[in-house]
Amino acid sequence: FSKCWRYARAGLHEPNQWPEADPAYPEVAFVGRSNVGKSSLLNQICNFGTIAAVSSKPGRTKHAAWYRNRKVHLDIIDMPGYGHADRAKVFGPEALAFVKARTSLKAVYILIDARHGFKWTDHEWLAELGNEGPRKQVILTKCDMVAPNKLIQIASLARSDLEQFKRVDHKLFLCSSVWKSGMHDIRADIVRRTNL
Ligand code: GDP
Repeated sequence: FSKCWRYARAGLHEPNQWPEADPAYPEVAFVGRSNVGKSSLLNQICNFGTIAAVSSKPGRTKHAAWYRNRKVHLDIIDMPGYGHADRAKVFGPEALAFVKARTSLKAVYILIDARHGFKWTDHEWLAELGNEGPRKQVILTKCDMVAPNKLIQIASLARSDLEQFKRVDHKLFLCSSVWKSGMHDIRADIVRRTNL
């Protein structure tokens, strides 16, 4: 991917502030619990210059940010983190409404920390979305932090958890921002889903 540049930032609770959907720019969104490693992953996927500050302080991002890749005509949306104590209530419903309503959204990537696997909030999210919105894809992050045999266990548990959800791909992507691994699969999937 060539570089993506941030061109909009908006609270998801304010639909009138969302940038207008542009059919020439299909969108994909990245979402997950706070501190899951979303900024680190986006830094690699989007080939950013200097943005998406990685922080050790959970729940810092309150807005969704739109990153545009002009060369391949694609928008990548960094969604606010969900599931951090009281913030789940603040971010959850708006983000769900956004995913359901946004017709230009072609895929949602749900990030799960490989050390923890599926959490209640992840289940809630997927259950709430039901059949609505575009297809979803789960990505296990921070795979470098889990021993290989444990990773196999967690991945297979997560896979069986996913079986109950429709419109969620049952294949998991495994990645690590430290090892810079798994990024190719994610990019290839974005291309496939947006028919670039
Ligand atoms: P966000 O809150 O989801 O955007 O998460 P960040 O990208 O800010 O990462 C949260 C913390 O996890 C930071 O301390 C990162 O350095 C660390 N981190 C992120 N991705 C990885 C990874 O793949 N491996 C390891 N070991 N640490 C990671």
